[in-house]
Amino acid sequence: MQASFLRGKTALVTGSTSGIGLGIAHSLAAAGANIVFNGFGDPDEIQAIQKTTEEKFSVKTAYHNADMSKASEIAALMAFASATFGGVDILVNNAGIQYVANIEDFPVEKWDAIIAINLTSCFHTTRLALPYMKEKNWGRIINLASVHGLVASAQKSAYVAAKHGLIGLTKTTALENAQTGITCNAICPGWVLTPLVQKQVDARAERDNISNEAAKKALLAEKQPSGEFVTPEQLGALAVFFCSDSASQIRGVAWNMDGGWAAQ
Ligand code: NAD
Repeated sequence: MQASFLRGKTALVTGSTSGIGLGIAHSLAAAGANIVFNGFGDPDEIQAIQKTTEEKFSVKTAYHNADMSKASEIAALMAFASATFGGVDILVNNAGIQYVANIEDFPVEKWDAIIAINLTSCFHTTRLALPYMKEKNWGRIINLASVHGLVASAQKSAYVAAKHGLIGLTKTTALENAQTGITCNAICPGWVLTPLVQKQVDARAERDNISNEAAKKALLAEKQPSGEFVTPEQLGALAVFFCSDSASQIRGVAWNMDGGWAAQ
């Protein structure tokens, strides 16, 4: 793999203002891709992210604030990517949210939001990105599923259902485009210490009246045999590999990077 083999290509990374999405955006930029950022956050901080990315990796970036739970805003995001860079070569469906409660206590509006953002948004972005990719007979679609797309955890019904569904969408997208240069694969991380997981660390520390560090260790000890968090940089390296020619025959896989979680 050449260092800048993605130069001239455009990557749209949804939910790339923090956490895993930001890590993947940086890895793709390091390989030369121009980046369309998306996600919520403080406008000054987002500008700083763009500036750092452009200066560090000598690529172009753009940002569009679309709520991935809304089909009309997703359409506007894709139109923005098209107007700014002429389309999308690499689509990383990363935006995601989570809520923790037993099924009988699970608010219906939380269920709807999780399915909309973690699953339905990926259907919309995929169908809108495919025409650009088909024009060039090249494309990479990378779906951020989760180890929860492979195994379940109690109290995460909507998240588990959405991530299992996303792996189904990944396989179908891969099959429908099997005889083209467009691949679609899913990445299934275990615990990654991002703002999304920090909330669960905080809840655990409060529940058990333990320190933040002890709560992190407890969460890892329960599920992730390596005892270490996966990092956004490691996930970024896998995303870059999926974009390479060496990975052109990897199609429809759900590749876990989970410290051994799903092997148990
Ligand atoms: P995060 O909370 O750090 O970042 C989520 C990103 O999505 C942010 O940029 C946020 O602004 C954006 N976002 C949230 N709702 C949105 C909406 N409605 N519209 C547009 N953007 C929205 O989360 P993360 O941990 O980096 O998670 C990223 C992805 O990886 C998610 O799909 C998550 O399910 C998945 N994942 C995370 C972990 C983990 O341990 N952190 C593990 C497995 C899978």
